[in-house]
Amino acid sequence: MDWKTLSDRVLDGGAITETEALAILESPDDELLDVLQGAYRIRRKHFGNTVSLHLLCNVKSGKCPEDCAFCSQSTSAINEVERYDFQTVESIVEGAQAAIDRQAKRYCVVSSTRAPSPGELETLCEAAIQIKQKHPDLEICSSLGLLTEEKAIRLKESGVDRFNHNLETSENYFPEVVTTHDFEERVNTAKIVKKVGLDLCCGGLFGMGESLQDRVDLAFALADLNVDSVPLNFLDPRPGTPFEGKPNPLSPNDCLRSLAMFRFVMPSIEIRIAGGRETTLRGLQPLALYPANSMFTAGYLTTDGQDYETDKRMIEDAGFVIQKA
Ligand code: SF4
Repeated sequence: MDWKTLSDRVLDGGAITETEALAILESPDDELLDVLQGAYRIRRKHFGNTVSLHLLCNVKSGKCPEDCAFCSQSTSAINEVERYDFQTVESIVEGAQAAIDRQAKRYCVVSSTRAPSPGELETLCEAAIQIKQKHPDLEICSSLGLLTEEKAIRLKESGVDRFNHNLETSENYFPEVVTTHDFEERVNTAKIVKKVGLDLCCGGLFGMGESLQDRVDLAFALADLNVDSVPLNFLDPRPGTPFEGKPNPLSPNDCLRSLAMFRFVMPSIEIRIAGGRETTLRGLQPLALYPANSMFTAGYLTTDGQDYETDKRMIEDAGFVIQKA
């Protein structure tokens, strides 16, 4: 495949086919830089050399009744993960300062739950109102599980900009990962988010045993949902989860090909490198900025990640600039 010709087509407003997306994932290592160059040309057209940073805040930890096999916050996981109930308005508002201090564009408030209770929803809404008063330019994303339309409208009215609800993997592979809810329920929440006018942040996780075709199916399912932002995680098997000890099949080059494929499929959509990037990409992390234009910084929900100063240096050394809030 001629990767430059394929990227020219996307730059001219065309689309790639599922077969071509699969060919990206199957491309040999000695074509990796050509694939990345194609993805980078597309990324540069839409985002220049900017990188947007996102800071996570875990507002309710280790309390989720769902059984996602990769997740250390499920109550079925046997581990030492901190477990606490929904934080107060004050602490959620205080947490926003950490995002400002790290030049983050977006503050991502995440709760381990099937769905928000009425009280949790109101706490988050009040916090969002206060954060917007204090930091009007800081964008707020919330991730609270399954949503009804009524709850989504309430979030929108309170100033929440975006809602995260990942599909995680393809519809075909989903039952291998989660049994307490189905793919369709996730899609329904994603559609509700779009319907009420919130930005939709919706992505997935690689390295769980899914096939390359499953990764392609996920990318096209997300494109069909008209997502605004795609966080892409890489399995970092957590202690006490069903995936503990699972051999991770992802090489750093596999991760880069997957990121590039998503960029070709969704040229103008924010693509964010997320959990597991440090352990799977290792020394090749900076190359991920060629297809992706966004990253979480300063750790994840239950694991430490690369610290902000190291992320900042990595971005600047690679010739990219942090996009200010
Ligand atoms: S729904 Fe979210 S918090 Fe709950 S187990 Fe699944 S991934 Fe973890």
